[in-house]
Amino acid sequence: MRVVLSDQKGRFLEKANENVDKTSSEAISNQIVRLTRVLCSKHGLNVNTIEGVGIAATGPLIQEKGVLIKPTNLPFDYVPLTEPVTEELRVPACLVNDCSGAALGERAFGAARRLDNFVYITIGTGIGCGAIVNGTLLLGKDGNGHEVGHFVIDCEGRLTCGCGKRGHWEAYCSGRNIPNFVRMKLENVPAITVEGSLLFKRVGGFWSRLVAADLFAAAKQGDSLSLKLVEEIGILNAMGFANVINAYDPSLITVGGTVTLKNKKMVLSPIKKYVKDYALNRVPKITITPLGEDVGVYGAVAAAQRYIS
Ligand SMILES: [Zn+2]
Repeated sequence: MRVVLSDQKGRFLEKANENVDKTSSEAISNQIVRLTRVLCSKHGLNVNTIEGVGIAATGPLIQEKGVLIKPTNLPFDYVPLTEPVTEELRVPACLVNDCSGAALGERAFGAARRLDNFVYITIGTGIGCGAIVNGTLLLGKDGNGHEVGHFVIDCEGRLTCGCGKRGHWEAYCSGRNIPNFVRMKLENVPAITVEGSLLFKRVGGFWSRLVAADLFAAAKQGDSLSLKLVEEIGILNAMGFANVINAYDPSLITVGGTVTLKNKKMVLSPIKKYVKDYALNRVPKITITPLGEDVGVYGAVAAAQRYIS
């Protein structure tokens, strides 16, 4: 959990970072309240001076009710957030999907200022996006729009996604699933090539140990097998980006997420090279978010501002 105390201009006055308290579904809102109080007192501010609280969280969620519903990364069916925060801190609180929030943050404080058609894409543990079309943040009926990580990019459905369906973008290219993609591809590579690779050495021959960072590290050291796999992942990412471009016709796409931010060139270069092979619409500028890992918290600040006004 990342909590920031911000002024109206998106300048962070104080920051806190903790593992999410998963002891109960109520513990999470308690943690938000506690950290907010800590940050205020650290900055010598009375909690009453806060104008609003914005919460950007991984869904699924029901935005209007301010609750998470069976969130993918928490062991609870129902996590109330805005109501307990408002009750405790006596300020308005709002909830937004983290990727939609990130799009708001980028537009308010990052590379998309003054742009009416803009998309933010995250490639991290999962893949998601937030889209602003004709100046409007697209949300859907509950605020869960743009599950682009579950766009189909492999009609043969060779890999199964965490959601249980087959062929989804995220099942091939997200940080969590890149190892599955690599293991699948290696089945058709001659043993002599595999065993001679730097990647093989990194995992000590145990493919079950493979994590996405191994692949990128080996590729950066010039391992030809790893470079080829990174390129193939890039082609699949290009398909995903083309689907996004064809759906929303943005004039800018910014990209974030841990996989992207740790391997900027290796992620972005193949996307830029291949996206035109799949996009019908004019390909926009594609760039790394200047807000880095903080894009999500900027999103929470932007969401709060929007909600208050
Ligand atoms: Zn899926």
